[in-house]
Amino acid sequence: MDFGLTEEQRLLQENVRPYLEKEIAPLVDDYEQRGPLTRAETIDFIKQLMPWGYYNGRASEDFGGANLDAKTYGLLQEELSRVWPGLCGTLWIAGGTGSAVGLSDSDHRELRDRMRAGESISAGGITEPDHGSDSSRMETRAVLDGDNWVINGTKAWISNGPICDHINLNVTIDPALGRQGVRSIFVNRETSPFETVRQNRLLGVRAWPNGELRFDNVTVPRRNLRARPQGEAQAAGETKRVWHFEAPRTLLAIMAVGIGQAAIDASIRYARERHQFGRPIASFQLIQEMIVDMVIETDSARFLAYRAMDLQDKGEDSSWQSSAAKAFATEMAVRVASKAIEIHGALGLMEGYPIERYFRDARSLTIPDGTTEIQKLIIGRQLLGVSAIS
Ligand SMILES: Cc1cc2nc3c(=O)[nH]c(=O)nc-3n(C[C@H](O)[C@H](O)[C@H](O)COP(=O)(O)OP(=O)(O)OC[C@H]3O[C@@H](n4cnc5c(N)ncnc54)[C@H](O)[C@@H]3O)c2cc1C
Repeated sequence: MDFGLTEEQRLLQENVRPYLEKEIAPLVDDYEQRGPLTRAETIDFIKQLMPWGYYNGRASEDFGGANLDAKTYGLLQEELSRVWPGLCGTLWIAGGTGSAVGLSDSDHRELRDRMRAGESISAGGITEPDHGSDSSRMETRAVLDGDNWVINGTKAWISNGPICDHINLNVTIDPALGRQGVRSIFVNRETSPFETVRQNRLLGVRAWPNGELRFDNVTVPRRNLRARPQGEAQAAGETKRVWHFEAPRTLLAIMAVGIGQAAIDASIRYARERHQFGRPIASFQLIQEMIVDMVIETDSARFLAYRAMDLQDKGEDSSWQSSAAKAFATEMAVRVASKAIEIHGALGLMEGYPIERYFRDARSLTIPDGTTEIQKLIIGRQLLGVSAIS
């Protein structure tokens, strides 16, 4: 495995980092304190950051993408998360197209044009109030009525749900079939309206919109249903196949790495500046130990994440490696951000100063796309050949 950056990736990193520090970093605390981004704010950020490849960057140019490989896309996400994980999550999910592959030519064209303009916000709806880790059984139901599916049900904790223009929903077409009855369906909010019943305020990533959505007799064209549930579908316009939850799990891992790096950078800076007992606290061995541990942990998570992306770039299976990256990196970021608080003393706990935000943001990433426990059970299933879940 080659861990070195290509010349192109190195240049991208060298350019995007100062850009984000200058243009985005000064905005973060204000937006995070205000709460979830509005649709208009999100579109503005998409347009601002799209030229870097932040929106739908892995897709072809036809879909507003930049044809990026997984590692280059990951590198961009790491840099944005170092500055603002909440925006990183919002933009990454906004650019998704999921099961749009099966759409009619005209719907496909419309979506493509909107994505090219950076004016389309996506979401993915799997979780329901009574179905979280176990997403094999869905209560949200689609019933065929002539040329349409009629959808009824509730989706919970949906990233970008309150502001999305379209959503890929996991629904059951026959509850008696259990897992076999689950499909993904593409719902265009404009033509098939649905309601946001709750805007969630979470511990961290507060600017990243999250909400509960209700579908009451929502009518969707028959052709929008795909043969497979979400997570097994190839995203529209993507140049490489990524199945299951490998890509999102790896992206959450790299977001956690970005937070870890931000915590390290801030801690090194502070440890050099802050004096106690007549010396910089950086000169105390216990402070050095904390910083060294933070670096070892963050780098280990980085290797796991890029290893999974490397497999994805080669078109190889990365399922347990993505779960390992997600489980380790998100838990690692909590530990690293906690050490950053310790190094900053009381200042680390102060609202409006970024250190406590790193901790809150990190703590929020162990849950989505499968909790740490679920990732471990997925890895165990693959390594042992016996499933502890189903
Ligand atoms: C920031 C954020 C963004 C999200 N975005 C989305 C989104 O865009 N779309 C979407 O569909 N969902 C989204 N979710 C929901 C997320 O996927 C679920 O919260 C997650 O899968 C866990 O489900 P749950 O919260 O119902 O917990 P539960 O499944 O009820 O789990 C509760 C506890 O039990 C543990 N547990 C469950 N089963 C087992 C088992 N077999 N063995 C051991 N322990 C177990 C869990 O690990 C957890 O500790 C998001 C959540 C968050 C926090």
